[in-house]
Amino acid sequence: MPAKNRKYNMEDTFKLQGKRKQLVDDLKKKGITDTAVLDALQKVPRHFFIAKGLEEKAYEDVALPIASEQTISQPYTVAFQSQLLEVKSNLKILEIGTGSGYQAAILSTMGANVYSIERHEALYKSTSVLLRKKGYRVNLFYGDGYKGLPTYGPFDRILITAAAPIIPDDLKTQLKTGGILIVPLGEGGRQVMTKLVKNKDDSFSVTEHDSFAFVPMLKGKVSDNV
Ligand code: SAH
Repeated sequence: MPAKNRKYNMEDTFKLQGKRKQLVDDLKKKGITDTAVLDALQKVPRHFFIAKGLEEKAYEDVALPIASEQTISQPYTVAFQSQLLEVKSNLKILEIGTGSGYQAAILSTMGANVYSIERHEALYKSTSVLLRKKGYRVNLFYGDGYKGLPTYGPFDRILITAAAPIIPDDLKTQLKTGGILIVPLGEGGRQVMTKLVKNKDDSFSVTEHDSFAFVPMLKGKVSDNV
């Protein structure tokens, strides 16, 4: 669906808040323990980020289609990545793959200073309008996430929300010492959620955490304005 034709349900009713509470309880049962993450998922209305007609599914723990043939990640995946990222107030976080803007809104609600890059121009534009309208203060960029944002770095945290075949060197460089980078790593159907911590000598300590399915991280940017 062309991004500019997207229609959103902008009301947050008690019924939807209740469904959100059930989703958060479900995520706790699935092993999410970081209360700052759970609070943010309770606060941010996910249905704001999903086209009208699909909002009934907003509080099911499933990924859903958004514009430009992309997807909004499953809530469990958003919670899992946010938990691994060890978010704290005022940390400077770079997200690769703005998509719907939901993950960026979660990080911003947790008090982080969020920078996010999207390679689809149409998605970048529609998500910029949406986030501004809903009062989320996030710095959005239309560009290629493989390059990061050299003029805005270094970052305390980097979160890649697309399946990366490799960890881009530019992103490793733009991570502060002691910083954390989270990336679903690998090609094909599933990726291994990988956590890197940057050591003082610029080496990385690497750990692996479960497997997930993301849309691919592709090179270059796309002008798909319609
Ligand atoms: N974080 C998003 C998930 C979006 S899916 C959300 O909360 O909705 C992954 C997104 O990454 C897609 O929008 C896709 O277009 C984008 N993407 C893929 N490769 C990219 C790249 N090299 N640079 C920036 N964005 C990229």
